[in-house]
Amino acid sequence: MDSRHWPCPSCGDDRDFVQPPCVDGHTEEGGECPEWACADCGTAIATGGAVVVRIEAGSARAA
Ligand SMILES: [Zn+2]
Ligand SMILES: [Zn+2]
Repeated sequence: MDSRHWPCPSCGDDRDFVQPPCVDGHTEEGGECPEWACADCGTAIATGGAVVVRIEAGSARAA
């Protein structure tokens, strides 16, 4: 399985991120699923170009 090494916002340190099985059809056309999950705590992030966007379910805190 492919994995990446990124700083995890939840762990507060570098962690390995793995791609869970894509259920949204991102890979059906040969593309790459942008969703990655921290192998340690499970925090999901999505890559968009060079930007890493944090996705946190259930946390709707206005900036
Ligand atoms: Zn996907
Ligand atoms: Zn983590």
